[in-house]
Amino acid sequence: MIRERAYPVDPWHIRETRLDLDLLAQSESVFALSNGHIGIRGNLDEGEPHGLPGTYLNSFYELRPLPHAEGGYGFPESGQTMVNVTNAKLMRLLVDDEPFDVRYGELRSHERVLDMRAGTLERTVEWVSPSGKGIRVRTVRLVSFTQRAVVAFLYEVEPLEESARLILQSELVANEQLPPSSKDPRVAAVLAQPLQAEEMLEQRSGGLLVHRTKVSDLRMAAAMEHLVETPGRHAITTEGHGDWLRTTVACRLEPGQKLRVVKLAAYGWSSARSLPALRDQVGAALASARLDGWEGLVQQQQEYLDAFWDHSDVRVEGDPEVQQAVRFGLFHTLQAGARAEKRPIGSKGLTGPGYDGHTFWDAETFVLPALTYTQPSAAADVLRWRHSTLDLARERAQTLGLQGAAFPWRTIRGQECSGYWPAGTAGFHIAADIADAVRRYVQATGDYDFEREVGLELLVETARLWRSLGHHDRHGRFHIDGVTGPDEYTAVVNDNIYTNLMAQQNLMTAVDACKRHPDLARRFGVDDEEAASWRDAAAAVHIPYDQELGVHQQCEGFTRLQEWDFENTPPEAYPLLLNFPYFDLYRKQVVKQADLVMAMYIRGDAFTAEEKARNFAYYDARTVRDSSLSACVQAVLAAETGHLELAHDYLGEAALMDLHDLHQNARDGVHVASLAGSWIALVAGLGGMRDFNGQLSFAPRLPSRINNLDFSLLWRGLRLRVNVTADEVTYSLRNGGGSARLTLVHHGKEVEVTQVRPVTMPIPSAGPVGPAPTQPAGRAPVRRATPHH
Ligand code: BGC
Repeated sequence: MIRERAYPVDPWHIRETRLDLDLLAQSESVFALSNGHIGIRGNLDEGEPHGLPGTYLNSFYELRPLPHAEGGYGFPESGQTMVNVTNAKLMRLLVDDEPFDVRYGELRSHERVLDMRAGTLERTVEWVSPSGKGIRVRTVRLVSFTQRAVVAFLYEVEPLEESARLILQSELVANEQLPPSSKDPRVAAVLAQPLQAEEMLEQRSGGLLVHRTKVSDLRMAAAMEHLVETPGRHAITTEGHGDWLRTTVACRLEPGQKLRVVKLAAYGWSSARSLPALRDQVGAALASARLDGWEGLVQQQQEYLDAFWDHSDVRVEGDPEVQQAVRFGLFHTLQAGARAEKRPIGSKGLTGPGYDGHTFWDAETFVLPALTYTQPSAAADVLRWRHSTLDLARERAQTLGLQGAAFPWRTIRGQECSGYWPAGTAGFHIAADIADAVRRYVQATGDYDFEREVGLELLVETARLWRSLGHHDRHGRFHIDGVTGPDEYTAVVNDNIYTNLMAQQNLMTAVDACKRHPDLARRFGVDDEEAASWRDAAAAVHIPYDQELGVHQQCEGFTRLQEWDFENTPPEAYPLLLNFPYFDLYRKQVVKQADLVMAMYIRGDAFTAEEKARNFAYYDARTVRDSSLSACVQAVLAAETGHLELAHDYLGEAALMDLHDLHQNARDGVHVASLAGSWIALVAGLGGMRDFNGQLSFAPRLPSRINNLDFSLLWRGLRLRVNVTADEVTYSLRNGGGSARLTLVHHGKEVEVTQVRPVTMPIPSAGPVGPAPTQPAGRAPVRRATPHH
């Protein structure tokens, strides 16, 4: 049975008013807090019961063997798995010797609230112990956006009807036991006891643990400190042992009295720093947190988020459920990237162990668009991280007999970690996705220093990859054979259009950037002949088309494959990858996720409006959305082809992915690409925003139920605000002073906006282009035009 959790609709909060133990793991992902450097799942403070305990540090991983039943040349032999690090969340409470555990006694009330403006998770509980003592507990936690190494907790407890003896045990615990992993390939490998104790320090009200991983040889430190307030006397002690450290606070309270404990914790890790250096680093982080105290940290968090929402909020009037979900999506997007600082963004952020904590093209293609136009420095940092792994990508290309750089399909540190090459190594499009993210960032910011430091080399090395991976046939046409596009249900194909068009853009972006920086290009060994070979390849890229059906072919031969029997595929057979052999999926016209449709969005300049409409209808009927990376892109093309209600439906699906646990695996972490994708669905979908050839353009149109859409984005330092109603759009500049002007295109017409002169333009009326799209039997998205719950 599918159980759906309903969080009450509220524009700025995610509220849980009832504790359902069967859905704990999912709520732990939804309530996970992170700043991109540290992530903590929304586990209950007392640690038990739990779905999946989880505390993560970006890029802190352990190596594990990657066994292949049948080995092959070039198969990666070692995998990287994100480690569940020392847990600082644990605060166990005993009430007159009885452990506070919601499974026993009576839980009178329970509420957890994720406050997306405050950046905190608050929990309020009334509980009666098995022997009849009632207490109220209120806890608040945050992972600081302003102090990157700091996590803070407030724990308040008071007896209700009678006096009680309270013992609070606040801990740091390494090597927690984790539930065994399942056979689902999307679930992480479980590492038992990944951490080796190196040092422990116990002081009266806190202390520190230092551990290191056995094989990857990374060292981490976690430290904690407690500030206790209570009306009467209290005793405090700390003791520890290798893998744990425990500060105990004991007191006796009357009804009306309260014990208040602030726990400050700090994390640090390094592959290079010595034990004393790391120990001092977390000590310093703790000192800085102590300086500001709980109130200071809360206030900084609020200020940080005020600025974020001011720049990045998207307002959607008419569909409050989507409004809430979109903010939830933006909040998790921020959490995944805010302070990652030259580290990758994993497909689950730091909210759960799914996909082993790996980063994929999800980051460059789905998360970075939102960040580029709202938090550009965070986008640049992800690309700086990619750049830092360039040597590994060059090595990989060499192993594969290719030129340039072959970036890994999935990784933490930069080495290929995919054990299944048809959907791993063959997913070469990641190279062009990275190049596209560079192009987008440079174009949106005009940051040519970045292009010199990082961008150009990424563009050159990826262009070299394409040139060596593809070939000109005897007619001169350029083909890229034997690769896998975004649709992982069609693998190792010739001339995947998405890959070909993205490679084409990659080659041309490299040519242009080399022209801008000829000195640097020469230093990278690019001569005229090489640049000309990129231009020739780009100009000759083959785009397969089915004349008879009048649609493009996702890859050569796709439209002549056998059709999938959707009518006889029951709902429980989805996702198909868990119920059918890849062998069967590969030979049929069944599409896991937007692929050609993705190409029509990012390379929309390569298709006519009629082609888009026909292709969209053809492929929508064959796309099952077994990947969460699909709905947001389908929303964009549905909007562009004028199917606005369908666009709204897909937007809803992308945004509600985790709040409604639509793929039933939110327990392993939130789907960051889909959540960030809801920004894409709104801004590129309903807002019609494109940036082809450096020209910012919009073509907004709203579905019936949404009466106002309002968003802001940064374009070359100017903050543009776009406000859309049913029949007109207002463009205004929020900064830049009197001289700043921005030229944009509105529904094909050039418009100039200045700070003093906002421009309001009518929305030209137009009906849908082409046939109404349909979906495979049983796979239509939930309709949003008529509200229903
Ligand atoms: C999708 C990929 C995606 C990966 C991680 C897979 O199911 O097919 O496109 O990168 O999940 O989110």
